[in-house]
Amino acid sequence: LSAIETGRAPFLETQLQGHPIIAAGQPTEPKTPVINPARAKDIVGQVQVAGPADITAAIGYAKPWGADAATRAAALNAAANAYEANANELFAILAREAGKGMPDVVAELREAVDFLRYYATQASDDTKARGVWTCISPWNFPLAIFTGQIAAALAAGNAVLAKPAEQTALIATRAVEMLHAAGVPIDALQLLPGGGNVGAALTSDARINGVAFTGSTATALKIREAMAANCAPGTPLIAETGGLNAMIVDSTALPEHAVRDIVNGAFRSAGQRCSALRCLYVQEDIAEPLLKMLKGAMDELVVGDPWLLSTDLGPVIDAPAHKIIADHITQAQSDGRIIHQIKAPENGGHFIAPTAIRVNSITDMDREIFGPVLHVATFKADEINNVIDTINGTGYGLTFGLHTRIDDRVQTIVERIEAGNIYVNRDQIGAVVGSQPFGGEGLSGTGPKAGGPHYLPRFTATPVQS
Ligand code: ADP
Repeated sequence: LSAIETGRAPFLETQLQGHPIIAAGQPTEPKTPVINPARAKDIVGQVQVAGPADITAAIGYAKPWGADAATRAAALNAAANAYEANANELFAILAREAGKGMPDVVAELREAVDFLRYYATQASDDTKARGVWTCISPWNFPLAIFTGQIAAALAAGNAVLAKPAEQTALIATRAVEMLHAAGVPIDALQLLPGGGNVGAALTSDARINGVAFTGSTATALKIREAMAANCAPGTPLIAETGGLNAMIVDSTALPEHAVRDIVNGAFRSAGQRCSALRCLYVQEDIAEPLLKMLKGAMDELVVGDPWLLSTDLGPVIDAPAHKIIADHITQAQSDGRIIHQIKAPENGGHFIAPTAIRVNSITDMDREIFGPVLHVATFKADEINNVIDTINGTGYGLTFGLHTRIDDRVQTIVERIEAGNIYVNRDQIGAVVGSQPFGGEGLSGTGPKAGGPHYLPRFTATPVQS
């Protein structure tokens, strides 16, 4: 059964065109193909990449959105309506370009729409420091994060230079077309697709008044350096970066619930969420039965084509990502640390078989493995405080999960753990725009949290003049 089968969704058969919507003049670079991560030979479409001349021209052309708050809010709400009206098309592009499964694309569209409507409510006329913002987004939420950054910057009256991830520029193209059709002026929103070099150019120009970035911690650090060297002192950087997220399951936890939440947290979206569970700490006393249940639950997972409703997880985004994850698993295999692994299709798509790997500690992981790989460590009853110190010691602080039925323990751990989003006796996934904003601490981000009341005001910050 196919969710977006032929007839209803011609977008699955035809090559999509990423329109050249760099507003300032004709683009100078050739187009590059976008490949379907689930089918290596399926070219989804062609994307117009921005070259150095396009970038310089676009920055010069950018003009902060002078319209009053009501007009800006109306355009953002109209864009939200357009996203909803074109849901099937957006689902199809997300599935085919990003390899995202049906539950994920539905949730992603919802989140994108929520961002538009929420930031529209926050548009205000007393924004004093309008300027030109660069918004750089990742491929894992190529519609929601892309839209959220832009919507906040526009609601505050800025001009936006949007740089989507190179892997997912087609969905960005459609989003920008809808924003323009909804009334956002083209000099207030320009799309500049391309790779890291385009991002680098857009974050090292003295005419930029701020940068919103979501991606890896390493890239955020590069951007900070580039901005320090090239932009006015105090130019704001809002960065949402990686995590090394843990969950603690103690011996009082309900194993059925814990296992359901572990599987969701670690394997949903093929583990390609910043919030995903990477390292499970399970109390020794219940490790054996819990891991047995976990293996059973993993065996139920279906890895396959993202547009099939029977699929639980699709491919990872591209060949380089696949290699990093596959090498990590191969290393664990040769060390004899595989707890369990299920099968994945071998059809040329970038599929990774969901895998659980034994580790002694979260510190055995020298970096975030952005795929369907769960690491499992055990702890003794009297070691729980050390475990918390070790998790905090990674320096990351994005999400944290806890399964326990000891009320006092919930209180103490929630107070001690350094993480932006804490999930107790539930899955380690999700945020709700407007009421449960998302964002991390330490190496995981600068704050403020996206989808919360403190996010938009940062887009009006006046740089400190030296
Ligand atoms: P990921 O590992 O998730 O791809 P990246 O941090 O590499 O994370 O990418 C996130 C976004 O940052 C993408 O849009 C990417 O093109 C962009 N990017 C990569 N390198 C740089 C850079 N040096 N400066 C600015 N943006 C960059």
